[in-house]
Amino acid sequence: MTINKYPIKWNRDNYSIKIFCSIPNIATGILITADNNYFVVDPGDGILRDLNIEIGTKKILSISDLFITHGHHDHVGGVWALLTYMRVMNKKTSLSIYYPKGCVEIESIYHAFQKVYGKTLPYKINLKEIDNTKTIKSKGVTIHPFPVIHKEYLHDGKTTRQVPALGYKFTFNKLKICYGGDTAYCEELVKMAKGSDLAIIEAGHEDATPDGMHMSISEAKSIGKSAKEYFLVHVPE
Ligand SMILES: [Zn+2]
Ligand SMILES: [Zn+2]
Repeated sequence: MTINKYPIKWNRDNYSIKIFCSIPNIATGILITADNNYFVVDPGDGILRDLNIEIGTKKILSISDLFITHGHHDHVGGVWALLTYMRVMNKKTSLSIYYPKGCVEIESIYHAFQKVYGKTLPYKINLKEIDNTKTIKSKGVTIHPFPVIHKEYLHDGKTTRQVPALGYKFTFNKLKICYGGDTAYCEELVKMAKGSDLAIIEAGHEDATPDGMHMSISEAKSIGKSAKEYFLVHVPE
């Protein structure tokens, strides 16, 4: 078990994941590399800076898929910058954006982006709403989305509502990486993390009282231990 300083990297047989950061209410940013293919997961604020340092312009333009777990700003804050950079640098290949059905943040960013730049966009954006657990295949990677339980506060600071939220399990050459996104303790995540080569589990809850939003460190550990290796992320700093 590790609560590391960021970035955190895991690498096995041409399959790697780098978590640039994962801090609740601030930013997340994750890069998955499978052979020479690049996926970005939860592009929060700072993702463009981190990708530029890590892989540079040419490889940023070759990114084929974005995976969004949910619409909170610490998970989508870098989407606009990334889409715009790809336009300015003349990306030619298409980009798919996977997101949970009902995630208004991604749809709003996409529509605003199309409104501003749609006529001068050199690449195609495929918006892929996910409303089931069917597997997705891209570039030799199999992606299995699964529902998780995540909430947010309304204006009164007391009432909560559930937000559309997913975790994803990425399998490449039989190696499995399970990322739960933001979630309270949930059976879907327990099931998906079990036996994974790597589980990335959020431990965003500050004390032991469950609130339906995040997991405590002990809950997160109990799930992480069922995988071969695990990282705890999204721990408040
Ligand atoms: Zn978050
Ligand atoms: Zn969240």
